Amino acid sequence: MTLNVGVIGTGNIGADHVRRLASQVSGAGVTAVFDIATERAAEIAEGVGAVAHGSWTALVDDLDVEAIVIASPGPLHAEQVLACIEAGKPVLCEKPLATTGEDSIKVMEAEVAFGRRLVQVGFMRRYDRAYRVVKGAIDDASIGEPLLAHMVHRNASVPHTFTSAMVMTDSVIHEIDTARWLFDQEVVATTVVAGRPSPQAVAGVRDPQLVLFELADGVVVDVEVFLNCQYGYDVRCEVVGSMGTVSMDNPSTNSLRRNGQRIESVPADWRVRFNTAYLDELQDWVDGLATGVVRGPSAWDGYAAAVVANCAVHALAEGARTKVTLVDRPSLYA
Ligand code: NAP
Repeated sequence: MTLNVGVIGTGNIGADHVRRLASQVSGAGVTAVFDIATERAAEIAEGVGAVAHGSWTALVDDLDVEAIVIASPGPLHAEQVLACIEAGKPVLCEKPLATTGEDSIKVMEAEVAFGRRLVQVGFMRRYDRAYRVVKGAIDDASIGEPLLAHMVHRNASVPHTFTSAMVMTDSVIHEIDTARWLFDQEVVATTVVAGRPSPQAVAGVRDPQLVLFELADGVVVDVEVFLNCQYGYDVRCEVVGSMGTVSMDNPSTNSLRRNGQRIESVPADWRVRFNTAYLDELQDWVDGLATGVVRGPSAWDGYAAAVVANCAVHALAEGARTKVTLVDRPSLYA
């Protein structure tokens, strides 16, 4: 059985997902794509023998499309996910699920009304093998009782269209989901401090920033986010427990020892660092759908992450600790 997938948005990550689904994921193929950059979409469609539609609604309505991947810009996600739910089609939506808590609630309400899960959110770190080792050490109590986590999120650079809010809604949203998933707890408050900006920061963007997340059970997570660090993509995590620590450095690095020096490579970007995680995410999504189940990060996870990210934007703007308030979790996401 081959799952016929349609992909909306064939930019950076959408084009990668098309390639993975067409040639690396077993049990799946790409039958349709759409992007407003029509020439690019047509080229990508031709490369995998898919149809390039004239609109994203035509792709959703295409009877040959059984499941959909959304990789369009974030502000379009909620409307496109809602259309997928209305059509009764499973959808893997790249993060963010929506840019606001309100829009995420609309998605959850539509999915709850549909009666079963159709939506998965692209929080692919949950599939990363190194992060899974960290989670394993927390879950089997190898480090005792978890107390603190230190996280680092550095990009070599980001586009000039990046804003201070996007530091949270586009980048730190990964750490928000990672913290919620690692500790199986919601974030209850956040504090953000931004000091001296890097001369390489996008004009007007507070970069770097230090973010604190307080979780419901008292675990505290700090995140250094620095999106123009220049030297590469550097994502790290250390969890401090009552009996030890577990840490994750860059797992795909190599080192060269020469002339009295040890030189380590750092991944150039997220594509290199998380390549295998994206593949494992898609394979798990397709395997789950073969048995009629969507089992990855849910619309609730997308909702909670969006609310926390927006609270962090508020915390920076106001210079104050900001409490996070979530609606009651629908039983569909228990
Ligand atoms: P991108 O390269 O800008 O790709 C987005 C594509 O969607 C562009 O080709 C854009 O065309 C197109 N588009 C614009 N309006 C559209 C519409 N109405 N319908 C369909 N497509 C439309 O961005 P990206 O880096 O691939 O990011 C896409 C999404 O994936 C974002 O939500 C981002 O946060 C997420 N993402 C997730 C990860 C991850 O680690 N999970 C990594 C990267 C990105 P134009 O360029 O002409 O506007």
